[in-house]
Amino acid sequence: MRCRICGAKLAKEGDICSNCYKLYQEEEKLKDDVNERLVVKRKYSIKYNLLRYMWVILVLVLSIIVCISSAQFLASLGLVCLSFVIMGLLLFLDKRIAKGTKAVFYDTKVVYQFHFWVINTDKTVKYENITEALIYKPSFSQKRTNLGDLCVYAKGTLPGATLLNGFQIKNVEDPETVLEQISEIINS
Ligand SMILES: [Zn+2]
Repeated sequence: MRCRICGAKLAKEGDICSNCYKLYQEEEKLKDDVNERLVVKRKYSIKYNLLRYMWVILVLVLSIIVCISSAQFLASLGLVCLSFVIMGLLLFLDKRIAKGTKAVFYDTKVVYQFHFWVINTDKTVKYENITEALIYKPSFSQKRTNLGDLCVYAKGTLPGATLLNGFQIKNVEDPETVLEQISEIINS
């Protein structure tokens, strides 16, 4: 007899080995945990985007002024339209990404979701596997809008390398408070 899941030889009659059974039990226990304690989302902020793309906007505005002052009205009209299209597209993308990003903290686990276009990422991390939760040093635009990037490292993740087991949520509102709440939940 061999284990139905991992193929290990079974000492006595049965379907699955004790290792796989233990994992199965743990998974079931994790599924039973449905007590939502905190939802962390990526914030969509127009102010942040305007600050972030300040230089692009400035260059476009200057170009438009130059066009108008040299009586190239058609070109300035084209630039105005182009500016609106670019900004609209950037805002639309950011809004869609923000809508599809969240992390739900339960009693014993956190479930991270990233749904955007064809990408569907769902990740469950047990608190006992979390090694560190932190907020990255905020950028200029983030500081002005009280946003920050939340990063949760899990076991098996090398610092600086890609986030194998952890996850990251950009532009979390009021990041310091959120981090405090997370630490409290994780360590309780
Ligand atoms: Zn097995």
